[in-house]
Formats: sequence, C-alpha cells, structure tokens
Amino acid sequence: MSRRQNWLLNAVEPAVQARFEPHMRHIRLSRGQVLQHAGQQVSRVYFPEGALIGVICALATGETVQTGMIGWDGALGAFEACGTRQSAFQAEALVEGEAWAMTAEDYRGMYDASPALRTAVHKYVEILLTEARQFVACNALHTVEARLSRSILEALERSCDGSTLPATQETLAQMLGVQRTTVTAAISALQAGGVLRTARGQIEVLTPAELEASACICRETLQAARAQIYAAGAFSCDS
Ligand SMILES: [Zn+2]
Repeated sequence: MSRRQNWLLNAVEPAVQARFEPHMRHIRLSRGQVLQHAGQQVSRVYFPEGALIGVICALATGETVQTGMIGWDGALGAFEACGTRQSAFQAEALVEGEAWAMTAEDYRGMYDASPALRTAVHKYVEILLTEARQFVACNALHTVEARLSRSILEALERSCDGSTLPATQETLAQMLGVQRTTVTAAISALQAGGVLRTARGQIEVLTPAELEASACICRETLQAARAQIYAAGAFSCDS
C-alpha cells in the first residue's frame, strides 16, 4: 500500500486502507466537471490528489459564488456522507487532476472502521469552520488585490503545488465573489509589477515571494491555525 497524498486517506490505518482498497477508484477530474448538485443525495466521496474542487453556492436569484476549495487536504462529501447524506451546494473541478473516489456507502464503512479517519474528519471540519470565519473578516476588510493574491497561493498549494494555476479570470471572479472587471484590474496591477502573467486560461506566478507579500494577512493566520489543528492530539469525549 503506497502512501496516499490525500491527507484524509493518509490518516486511515494501513489495515483499514487495505480492506477498502478494492472499493476505491483512481480517477482524473476534468476542469468544469460537475461532481455534485445542490439538494441531491451524496452518492460518492472524492479525495483530491492534484485536482482542486470548488464549492459553489447558488443564490435564489441565480447568482453563483465560490465559497470554498477542496484539495489534497480534504474530501468532497467527507461529512455529508455520514450526516444528512444530501449536498447543500454544487461542487465542480476547478483544476484538472487526480483524485480517489468511492461510493458513499463504502466511505461510511471505512469511516466506521477507522478511528484515525474520524479524528482527521473532525479536524477537517474545524479547519473549514476556521476558514469560513476568517473569510467573513477577509471579505469585509481586505482589498481585492490582497484577496486575489491569497486565493491564487492557496489554490496552488492545494492542487498541483507548482507555479501555474489553470484558471480563467472568470473563475477567479467567482472565487472572490466580485465582478470580472474587478478581477481584471487586480490582475493587471500584479502583471504590471511583474508578479504574474496570464495566458490561455492560465495564471503563471513569476515571483512567488512578491505574491506572498501582496497577499493579505489571512493566509498566515490560516496557516498557523491549520498547523495547530493538525498537530493537536485526539481527545476522548470522556476525558
Ligand atoms: Zn484577508
């Protein structure tokens, strides 16, 4: 059994991994591929290992905004499959790449069999809640350029971990919940400073250190929070 690159899968005990290996499929997600619809039953759980999945919130008025990203550090359906078994949002692949997939039923079997996976999923929920709270503050207080820089860095870190992000300006506008013209202006400023360049639906980061300097403080805050949650031990509710 090779070491999984997905953090949740990697947490599963080797004996449990071996038991569920025949139930898992290694697949490639295409950019724009819809994996889950809002209001529908969660039938599969996806563990990205290179692919990046976007969580899309649709308003009653029809507008859509991306409200989260799922990369190697998480999974689509990791807790919904064990709770309501319904999805409250649409999910689609933002960045093409590899992922593991298994049916929700098999996932529930693995979740029941693996105390280590349950601990990892609980930590993942804590991370998502921490991010959601931080992003409310970020959206209220930080500039689009600073949020854009942070979002590009976080998308790279959670997917291919390289310097080129396959994302159009339309995708970035949806990630930030702003008009495309607003994103275009922010990208132009970063391009003018030699920090990145865009071509054929890709963002290439030329000077990562300058992009990090341009990103808002939320990136460092969340990195520290994630490290603290990852490092924390498992505690019994009885202790
Ligand atoms: Zn911020």
